[in-house]
Amino acid sequence: RTRVLRISTGSRDLDNLLGGGIESMSITEAFGEFRTGKTQIAHTLAVTAQLPKSMNGGGGKVIFLDTEGTFRPERLSPICERFNVDIGSTLDNIIYARAYTHEQQIELLTLIAAKMSEEHFALIIVDSVTALFRVDFSGRGELAERQQKLGFFMSRLTKLSDEFNVAVYITNQVVADPGAAAMFTADPKKPIGGHILAHASTTRLSLRKGRGEARICKIYDSPNLPEAEATYCITAAGIND
Ligand code: ATP
Ligand code: MG
Repeated sequence: RTRVLRISTGSRDLDNLLGGGIESMSITEAFGEFRTGKTQIAHTLAVTAQLPKSMNGGGGKVIFLDTEGTFRPERLSPICERFNVDIGSTLDNIIYARAYTHEQQIELLTLIAAKMSEEHFALIIVDSVTALFRVDFSGRGELAERQQKLGFFMSRLTKLSDEFNVAVYITNQVVADPGAAAMFTADPKKPIGGHILAHASTTRLSLRKGRGEARICKIYDSPNLPEAEATYCITAAGIND
């Protein structure tokens, strides 16, 4: 059996919460409001995934599937400096794919699978997994079809992560949860994607803002991890303690 890899998020506290970092053969979903750091975590992971295992890296290449146009290659320079790695080769090892429709998002997995059978990849990033589905199926009565297509995308992603022993990091948005609001719970927001995403994601992380650049991450609905929290900061050099 292939050994499971763990990739550092850049924050020790967050890594500890996750049992060492984000896992291969598994899907880690981060959801939360805007500016909670979902995309910044993705940029940090795009660098740490390439670090050797001795530096808590994944020792492999990275796929960045961008559905919102938020990938910023220049953002990786200070992160590379922090970890003492070359920006040029780091960028060379990131395959960037931009999807503008949910069909493209699904089709890109075929190209990604082909790439992965040629070379060793440590990480697939999908930022965000749900945005295009939300736009493309925004009408009333389209929810069932949206969920069916999203389920298809997620099952292919799961298969890739198992087959190639890669970590998968996906981001997701939140919507108001009237049920939670009515019960006066602390966080009246829930991730979108319903049961389909709940079942497909192995680890779900709920992100929220703290003071200043501080952010808080809570394990959400995990069968095997305690409902613990970790704090992290968004810095110029990526996610940190
Ligand atoms: P959205 O839902 O809009 O996609 P997000 O959760 O992906 O939001 P990010 O883009 O990851 O949010 O995080 C934005 C935050 O990161 C902002 O608070 C911003 O101040 C911080 N940030 C971005 N770039 C830098 C940087 N170079 N140095 C320090 N902080 C930064
Ligand atoms: Mg984002």
